[in-house]
Amino acid sequence: MKNQLLRIIAIAALALSANFATAHETITAGPNRGRMLTKSKPPAEFLVTAERKVQITFIGADGKPVAPADQVVTVTTGTRAAPTTLKFTKTGNSLLSDAVLPEGNDFPTVVQIKATPEAKASVARFNLNTATCPGCKNPEYVCICGH
Ligand SMILES: [Zn+2]
Repeated sequence: MKNQLLRIIAIAALALSANFATAHETITAGPNRGRMLTKSKPPAEFLVTAERKVQITFIGADGKPVAPADQVVTVTTGTRAAPTTLKFTKTGNSLLSDAVLPEGNDFPTVVQIKATPEAKASVARFNLNTATCPGCKNPEYVCICGH
């Protein structure tokens, strides 16, 4: 009986923290169905490719990709004990990570984008969960239904 009560409290606490995490941020999907990072200028789309690399595409006001110029992008992801830092190389109209994501899922992730190497970085933090959302069918990190 006591154990069951504790479990209910734990589930309620989890539900509450999940709501707080999503309440203050509206996620929008980019043209490639990646997660839009709106703090960078121009806004950037964060996408995990089929090869589990990270692709960053800058999106202009017209919704079309803007070729990267001098931007410097750094992504830190993975377990807190052994995080992985990804560096990026210009590939077509996007920046593509030099390495693949570590094995596993739902990693705390930090994306730092500098307009130029000397500029102050814009920082986006989110959990990189690549499981499919049952509501909007996007990966959870691009969930636009607030599921
Ligand atoms: Zn969703």
